Order: sequence, then structure tokens, then C-alpha cells
Amino acid sequence: MMTAQDILKLTEPKNQNLPKISADSSSKKYDMVYIPVFEEAVKNVEKVFPVLKKLKLKGEKKESHDMVDGGQILRVRGMGKKSEMTNRKIRRMFGQFYLGADSIKVKKIGAFCDELGWAYFAAIGIHVAALNPTIFKSKTKLEKVPEVGLINPQFKARATAVRKEIERGINMAEGKNLMRILGATPPNILSTETYAKVIEALCKRWKVKCKNVSKKDLKKYELLNAVSEGSGHDSKLLMLTIPVAGSKKSTVLVGKGLCYDSGGVQGKGSYMKSMKEDMSGSASVLGAILNIKKNGLKLKQATHFLLPLAENMMGSRAMRADDVWTAGDGQLVEVMHTDAEGRLVMSDAICYAKNHVKDINHVFTIATLTGSCIVALGEVYTGAVCSDEILAQEVVKAGKESGDLVFPGPWDLEFDDNNSPVADVANLGEKDRDAGWIKAGFYLARFVPKNKKTGELTAKFCHFDIAGSIDMKGNGASHRRKGFNSGVGVGYLSAILTK
Ligand SMILES: [Zn+2]
Repeated sequence: MMTAQDILKLTEPKNQNLPKISADSSSKKYDMVYIPVFEEAVKNVEKVFPVLKKLKLKGEKKESHDMVDGGQILRVRGMGKKSEMTNRKIRRMFGQFYLGADSIKVKKIGAFCDELGWAYFAAIGIHVAALNPTIFKSKTKLEKVPEVGLINPQFKARATAVRKEIERGINMAEGKNLMRILGATPPNILSTETYAKVIEALCKRWKVKCKNVSKKDLKKYELLNAVSEGSGHDSKLLMLTIPVAGSKKSTVLVGKGLCYDSGGVQGKGSYMKSMKEDMSGSASVLGAILNIKKNGLKLKQATHFLLPLAENMMGSRAMRADDVWTAGDGQLVEVMHTDAEGRLVMSDAICYAKNHVKDINHVFTIATLTGSCIVALGEVYTGAVCSDEILAQEVVKAGKESGDLVFPGPWDLEFDDNNSPVADVANLGEKDRDAGWIKAGFYLARFVPKNKKTGELTAKFCHFDIAGSIDMKGNGASHRRKGFNSGVGVGYLSAILTK
């Protein structure tokens, strides 16, 4: 069976069989060249590839031509309006191009890159697309992957700038691929203990302070512990800290780390497959830290990353519906449903932060939390629940800029019906089927630091639900290979936390 060391090896790009990406001002040396053609920019490509003039291209989406010119394969694709391209679409386009060459064995692939600014998203798209699940197979005689060149004659004069953009994109892709590899690791291998070991080793690699909280110090966090009662593996809590000189306030970011979620004694039935991915929130946090470190981004303020790890299983000691457990801040929580366990471990992680971190003024949470969010938003958008209007706008902007899109739901306390007749809080709303993804955010908000007199939140709060946007249904889509999640969250988390 794979060990923590084996997983760590897979997280290194040199063991992921990824293509080299460079910038080129000429298309000459490539065996195959992808040429996206946009309605507003037909002339751009005709200038570089005069042979295309005879096709009388318009850039419309229905246009598709494969032709051979001087021993070189040209794949011409109409892409519609350039003005309708988003960062997400650009990223996907280059991923599709790369995988489109899979069936034809070529050594060098070129892709025409209309804008310098696209090189960043092209690099992300290509390295995310290239990650191949065969890295988990026993007979890993890795095929030699083709080299990729992003082509534009203007790159000659701006070689340094474009190389930097590619480098930046490769680092972002490394963060996403870290999240994707951890998500894809089988749950019998990535137990809470092994995952904790992996996180500690990653922190050593990145020179980030990491506290693996001892069992004794976790004793009073009953919500966190209760979730793993039916499992042979204990719950864990890791707190990673990146200080910022002169920073008086602190940000807390909590990522859900359910190594497996069977739904507990109430079960999940046929929805259980792919629940190894229920630790993707925590993995997106790790991906963001990697990107922040490798790209040398500057955090806005001191940031504490809390990763609660647990395994929700059925067993004779497993948590029951009707149980009442005490959170680390003294609130009593009634379990209404054993499958609403993610919010239990996350709320206790917020409590741990309240007990150990001074002056918290921002709390973020990220999790594969609710099926309700998948129903509401599908896989394109992450659902967000934000306590502050301006923060909500920042989050949407971070989503657009990174290509990991975010849609904020309404912030209205009318949604908070997480009431228990016997305890202080219930882990499900009374009408749990209605707007469950928003109600889950309001459950978590009950644990965010408050003014004791007025009850108002003293920290700005935003919760991200990535249950849909990790996109396990769309796996095997043309821009990435089957078997991995989408790597979502790494983009907007990096953007929100840094200057
Ligand atoms: Zn669950």
C-alpha cells in the first residue's frame, strides 16, 4: 500500500510527467499547431499563417479545419467572439488543445496565443489537463509527453514577460494539481494519520509553521472527535501559520478534511462513490498555500490555516442522530443528521482558532459541503455565503480574475433556522431541504467571533461550498482527464488572501 512518502512523491511536478511549456515567436518547429480563430481577430492569425487566407475564415464556432502544410498539421478552430472569452474559458481552451493531441503522437505541439495575458491561463490549462491518473498505476512506464510552445510573433520582444506569465501559471497549476492528487488518493491510503503526515511534510518543504494538535489538547473539541467515533482513525486538527510582519489582525481559513464520508449511520446510499474527495476543501487550502509560496505572493495579514481531518463511518461507537456534543466554545450542538458532519468539524476548528488566535477579523471556510449547492449552481460556480457586502464583491472579483467562479447567496438571518429544541444549535436547519447550502453557512456563522453584548459578528465571514465546483460529474471532460477533481478554489483563495 502507498505510504505518505509515496503520496508526497506524486505531489512533485517532476513525477507528474507534465509537458515543458515555452513561448515562441515562430510556429516553424512544431509538428502540430492549434490555431484558435476569433471573429474580431481573423487578421491576426492570417498574418502569422498566410496559408489560412484561402479558407476565408470568419472565426465562427462551427468552423473547424484540419490541414497539412509543409509536413505540419494545422488545427484551425473557430472560437466565436473574443470579447466573450473569460479566464475560465481561456484556461479550458488550452487544456482542450493539449488533450486533443493525445490521439496523434507528436513531439512538439504549438498553440497560437492571441494575447500575452493568456499565457498565464494557457499554462494552467495545459498542466491541469496533462495530469494523468496513470501516475497511480503499478506499471508506470510513463509515456514521453510532447513539448508545448505558445506562439505569437510579439513574444520575441516580450520574451521575459511572457516567460514570467508561463512560470506563474505553472505554479498555480502545481497548486491545483496538489489538490487534485490528494483528492484522488484512495481513502484507505489517505487516512487521517497519513494525511496529517503529508501535510506536515509539505509544510516542511514550504517552510511553513505547522502544529499538529495533540489528542490531549483536542479533548474538549467534541464535535470534531464525534465525527470519527465510528472510524478506526482518530480526528486530527492541523493549524498552519504564515505570519506577516507588523500585522495586528489575523485571518482564519478553515478547509474541510473528511478523508471519507460514508454519511455515518444514516448513510449515503449510492451517493457514496467519490466521497474520498470530501477532503477537497482542506486540499484547496494546501494548493493555495503552495501557489502563494511559489509565486511569492504577499499575504494581506497574518493567516492561520486550520485543517480539521476526520472520517465519518458506521460503527458501534459511531455518532448518532439525537446526540448532543459540546463545541470548543461551549455551545451544545444536537446532531440532526449524521451526514451533516463537515460543518461539525469545521465549526470546532473555528472554535480552536478563537481559543488560540488573537484579533481575528476575517474567517473563511471552504468545503464540499452540500448536495443543495450542486442542485442550485451546478459545477460552474462555487456557492458563497458572505456576511459582508464588500467582501462578497471582492470574492466575486477574485473568482472572475482567477477563472474559479464564485456566486454569492443572500446574507439574511432569516435563513438561520439551525435551531434545536434541546441544545443551543442543530447541525441542520429545521427545513433543511430548502436552501441548505445557505443554511450551512449560517450554521458556521454561529461559531464566528461575536460581540458578547450585541451578538454581532466581529469578524467578516465568508463560506465557500465547492461540492459542485470540484466537478466530479464532468470528469473526463475534454479539458482534463477522468479521475481528478477540477482543482477549484486554489485561484480565488490565493487572490483573496493576498495583496
Ligand atoms: Zn456528509
